[in-house]
Amino acid sequence: MKFETTLRYKNLNDRNLIESDPKYYDSVLIQAHLLAYSRKAVPQLLSEMANDQGFTYYIDPMISDFRIGNNFRDDEGNIRGWHRIYVDILGDPLETVLERRSNANARELSDDILREITRSIVDYQENFVYDRLEADVGKYEDLTITPRDVQPKAVIPWVHRIEKVEDIEIARKIINYAEQESTLPLKPCLYTTTRFIGDATKKRLLIELLEEFDVSECFLLFEDLNKYETTQSEYTNLIEYVYDIHKSGVKPHFYYGDFFSNLLAYFGLRGTSFSSLFDEEFKEKTEYSGGGGLPGRYYVDQLKDFLKIDATVDVMNRAGAPTCSCDVCERHFDDWYDLVDYDQDEDQVLKPILKKHRVAMRWNHSRLVEEHRLEDVLQSIDDDFSSFVGPYRTSPHVSPRKNMQYLQKWKKAVESRSELAVEELDQLQYA
Ligand SMILES: [Zn+2]
Repeated sequence: MKFETTLRYKNLNDRNLIESDPKYYDSVLIQAHLLAYSRKAVPQLLSEMANDQGFTYYIDPMISDFRIGNNFRDDEGNIRGWHRIYVDILGDPLETVLERRSNANARELSDDILREITRSIVDYQENFVYDRLEADVGKYEDLTITPRDVQPKAVIPWVHRIEKVEDIEIARKIINYAEQESTLPLKPCLYTTTRFIGDATKKRLLIELLEEFDVSECFLLFEDLNKYETTQSEYTNLIEYVYDIHKSGVKPHFYYGDFFSNLLAYFGLRGTSFSSLFDEEFKEKTEYSGGGGLPGRYYVDQLKDFLKIDATVDVMNRAGAPTCSCDVCERHFDDWYDLVDYDQDEDQVLKPILKKHRVAMRWNHSRLVEEHRLEDVLQSIDDDFSSFVGPYRTSPHVSPRKNMQYLQKWKKAVESRSELAVEELDQLQYA
């Protein structure tokens, strides 16, 4: 077993990355509404990829999108685009709930409705892909695959945000209903805040919740992780939480993770998930923020963060850093100014390069924690901080709202709990 590297499939343009670069990920996490929208192409892709050994995927159920706010509705109040198609497929009772109320918050729904929505989500994850493939074959053809060939690695039950202790009971009901419906293993996602798990009693309740069920793996999602704002003590809480889950025998996997999640491998984290170009962290949306159109950013490995293109060129030149040696950058960039030249045709030319580079870096991070001792990784973070903090502070292209202190917070948090670190990852290779 190794540290699982999971690439999020959030954007139709990421298809190329998934198809052409399977060497840079272990599994794909597909947004349920992208699958619903692209219901010919994505099942086809999955069935082709299923022929490749070791291809695995999950479907992000996304029902938490409907919990609060109106980001999924247009100005007239209708459910928009991809969300509409997904809701149509799940059907009732979710459809009726969203017609009658503004939201579908598990806390406000009856047990019967909770059970039925949970059932429809399980059914979607287990059967939708195969059903679509079957519907698309010709009348006189047979599918050469079985449903199992194209099913996800595990079912992710409805992800309910745990804000209060009462929400744990709701999560318990959802996992219980999902367990009754599912034929595949469950991989529940515990969605909460760093504040919640900072309370020892609440943290214990979450771990007991996992222990009640026959689950060997889980996802972890935090609303409030933000490398510029999260404090060292919140990072420490995360370390202890991951370690406690690991000790309880369940393998935790981040639902959205930046490089800090890779450091958590030393405390028992078993995998992390990330997007190709945006979203190092997750934030629940309450208002529609538009689709796509954001400028490309370069993932600077030494910073473990994205920078805008002009900031990248400036900071890297000031630091005298050589261009990246990954196979993508090596092919395209002789010096940092080449980034600006490629920027002329950003969507078609630059973004695909930026994505490949990013995914290659994140893949390397998984290997880094598998192959190196914790002290050595922390030392390299420290060295990068020293080399780049000057250029970063003085560059007029870096937003003054940003700073590099997160590297120090990560390092200090990890050092303060180093007694919990599982020194040899091999010990985690988990008989
Ligand atoms: Zn690169």
